[in-house]
Amino acid sequence: MTTGKPSHNNRSQPNSNLSESIKSGWRDATDALRNTPRAFLLVWNASKRHTLLSFGMIPIIALMPAAQSWVGKMIVDRILQAIEVEASIQVGLNLVLPYVIAEFALLLISTVLSSLQSLSNSVLRSLLTRHVNTLIIDKAINLDLQFYEDPIFYDAMQNARRRSDSSALAIVSAISQVVQQLITLVSLVVLLVGFSPWLAVAVILAAIPNFLSNSRFAEMSFRAISRRAPESRLLSYIEMLLTSNETVKEIKLFGLGSALKLRYQELFTRFLEEDTSIARRNTLASLGWGMLSNLAYYGSYIWVIVRTISQAITLGDMTMFLSVFRQSQRAVQQLLDNFSRLYENNLYLDNLIDFLAIQPSLLSPENGKIAPAPIEQGVRFENVSFHYPGSEKYVLKNINLFIKPGESIALVGLNGAGKTTLIKLLTRLYDPSEGRITLDGIDLREFDLKSLHQRFGVIFQDYVRYQFSVKENIGFGQIEDLNETGRVEEAANKGGADEVVSELPQGYETVLGRRWNQGHELSGGQWQKVALSRAFMRKAEVLILDEPTSALDAEAEYEIFKRFRELMEGRIAVLISHRFSTVRMADRIVVLDEGRIVELGSHEELMARDLSYAHLFNLQAEGYR
Ligand code: ADP
Repeated sequence: MTTGKPSHNNRSQPNSNLSESIKSGWRDATDALRNTPRAFLLVWNASKRHTLLSFGMIPIIALMPAAQSWVGKMIVDRILQAIEVEASIQVGLNLVLPYVIAEFALLLISTVLSSLQSLSNSVLRSLLTRHVNTLIIDKAINLDLQFYEDPIFYDAMQNARRRSDSSALAIVSAISQVVQQLITLVSLVVLLVGFSPWLAVAVILAAIPNFLSNSRFAEMSFRAISRRAPESRLLSYIEMLLTSNETVKEIKLFGLGSALKLRYQELFTRFLEEDTSIARRNTLASLGWGMLSNLAYYGSYIWVIVRTISQAITLGDMTMFLSVFRQSQRAVQQLLDNFSRLYENNLYLDNLIDFLAIQPSLLSPENGKIAPAPIEQGVRFENVSFHYPGSEKYVLKNINLFIKPGESIALVGLNGAGKTTLIKLLTRLYDPSEGRITLDGIDLREFDLKSLHQRFGVIFQDYVRYQFSVKENIGFGQIEDLNETGRVEEAANKGGADEVVSELPQGYETVLGRRWNQGHELSGGQWQKVALSRAFMRKAEVLILDEPTSALDAEAEYEIFKRFRELMEGRIAVLISHRFSTVRMADRIVVLDEGRIVELGSHEELMARDLSYAHLFNLQAEGYR
């Protein structure tokens, strides 16, 4: 299997000497661009139109600062010219006004375009969120149970969900800004080089140290957050415990509130301390490097003033220099900031890319066979052994079992004996580690997975209480028939939910659960009847009930199973129950102990054998005497 573990190559470590730090800076810079094509593809696929719109405006916006600086210089020079020739107001205005109008026009264009760009970006952001979340959900739907039972996968999924949509957009907007700032910078540097090449170099050099330190801090905070994924999970789990309606009863009565709150706060404080220390160091470093840039600026400033006083350059030139120097400093700074952003967000996007790269391990074969309906020969476990991925311990050992069509089988055994695991293998939520399971003689792995799953109607112990209408709770058993009222009612009738429905205010349309205002909460037993009805809704060849009836009283369970058997009509039924009054109705009983079948036969046969089944049966019967 491909593990869900996010893989990160070993990136830069703190370095002591300058050449190392430049090297690592360069590595960071190339690293920062690593996921850029992928980010573009994400954004492009989210909306081609808006991507084009956003990028189309870049060159125009980018040239604005240079144009504005030049126009500013022209205005000052023209004023000086007018003063020099002692022109009349009229003539002077004629000289200057065209440039003022030009500057106004430039301002107008840049304001309008910037607004349009930010509008387009915000639409793009929503579209991208939808696109990325859909990708994550699609992946989550297609991954098999194994991943969900694996905490590392859970972390990977959480990491992927965290910030990945905003990361993709941040990458693209950072790139578009980088492009924009590069164009701006080149145009400004062209102006500046004409003025003094040394100033151009000073502008660029001053900002580089800042970039190196920024990217290092971005990496530090990213690493802190990723490393903390398991603890973040614990944090939200505690939060859930303390705030959910399902847990409130126990939390209150056992008085767990303050103790859990303390754990929550301790953990949170640790995160907080770590974050603060990173932020503190970051602030100090940027202050230091920021000072360096300011020194460079004022040094050049003095030089320019001297040149102006000695009349080597005009006052207009000086105005332009000041504006160009400031703008280019800002552009370099922003360029480098955007590189850091790019870097940080590339790291976040790693999470998404890692997650999307996970492949399901239970694959539906290409051109898989359609699973048989009806089943003609039966289901056969052939020497099946199984251990969970990542664990050495065998949970099932050498299981051999044949189930004919029309037969009902009960699985009996202590907790942890392997009953549910057997069901997971039968329904191909997992594949056996050794041996095979066949349906009409064909290995389950050869069937198209979807058609195979269609043959099974399963209700697990921890069935889902969908906080939707009753109709949906039942109809989800066969989603295509959700709107066939007749079928839903029939299933409700078979599973016993019809009585529940008759007491509900809006009948089948009543929304269940407490999640919504108008939701109607059911008792445990009522929920179970709804879940059972869902199993009956399915046009399944094998019906499996894994203890979904524990909240019903023994009599109600008995009634349901009696009906269940009658309703099976030549199909296979597998049930797990702790109640022997129910178990004894099965055609054959499989007694599991530590993953092995220790007894197999009808109730009468097993009672006559007088081994563990008979012992357990008598134990329970005593309780009723
Ligand atoms: P039963 O249904 O009979 O109570 P299970 O099939 O649920 O038993 O569990 C059998 C054994 O497998 C137990 O020891 C349990 O701890 C282990 N087990 C169950 N699920 C997993 C899992 N996802 N990963 C690892 N071990 C598991």
